[in-house]
Amino acid sequence: MIATSPLLDVRDLTVFFDAGDGRKIHAVSGISFVVEEGEVLGLVGESGCGKSSIARALLQLPRPAAGRVVFEGVDWTRASCRRLRRLRPRLQMIFQDSVSALNPRRRIGDAIAAPLVIMKAGSPKERARRVLKAMHDVGLPEACQRQLPSVLSGGQCQRAQIARSLIARPKMLICDEPVSSLDVSVRAQILNLLEDLRRRYKLAMLFISHDLAVVKNISDRVAVMYLGRLCEVAPAEELYRAPRHPYSRALLEAAAQVDTRQPAAPLSLVPGELPSPADPPKGCRFHARCPVAEKQCSTTDPRLEEIGSGHVVACHFPL
Ligand code: SF4
Repeated sequence: MIATSPLLDVRDLTVFFDAGDGRKIHAVSGISFVVEEGEVLGLVGESGCGKSSIARALLQLPRPAAGRVVFEGVDWTRASCRRLRRLRPRLQMIFQDSVSALNPRRRIGDAIAAPLVIMKAGSPKERARRVLKAMHDVGLPEACQRQLPSVLSGGQCQRAQIARSLIARPKMLICDEPVSSLDVSVRAQILNLLEDLRRRYKLAMLFISHDLAVVKNISDRVAVMYLGRLCEVAPAEELYRAPRHPYSRALLEAAAQVDTRQPAAPLSLVPGELPSPADPPKGCRFHARCPVAEKQCSTTDPRLEEIGSGHVVACHFPL
């Protein structure tokens, strides 16, 4: 049997930011994962753990400090800026704040057409046809085409953002908290829309959210992140039923106490504080908050190791 390459192959991705006082913030530290064609990988973790930094580093916004991002067989970390502009429509991002993601002075139809203009794809007539098709796909009334984002509701702006992402026929969407800023009723509609589009167009997704219930429903696999590192990756059903990393379990227990009607509720209920990413602890980064830590945990960094089919954990003493 011939092994096929994953759609997205991320190896040792590392992202630093300047803390402004000479120190470096370790936003993402040597993370590796893959996403297969049509697969949805959920990414969860507390605010500030580096989830959004991964999303931007995949798109080379900015370029990561180290590691490789291979998408459809092309290493984006080595691609020129000019080439990246042509590649990016294949891997599109959906941002949390859909209103700010749209240019306030650009009409919705022009915003949706923008990726086609960048790609120099199609005649003006063909672009207009594809704009209408994309708007139809996301349930946006044709009348919105000539309107500015300020006239639309939050849900309509999110639909416009999704239409703009879809128009270039991407293979994958990076959804960074796509429903966090929406009302509960609108959240459900947008999630249903993403599910529907995923099935219809066989889209792969990296679905980033602090809301574990949302991630569970849409994801095939889920990756749990803590302070710039992955601590567990497993099939969604397995991870929610029997998490093996103490942090994954703490997150799930904390999430069970969160009022799910509060869309922006932060995952800050895990006992203890998230250490500073400018000065990450030695050994296991979770050891100061871990209820089952042993001496070894404060000195030796655990590696991600396979403990079952498609299930990896970075812990010296998995549950
Ligand atoms: Fe806890 Fe040690 Fe596992 Fe880290 S390595 S999660 S501190 S048991």
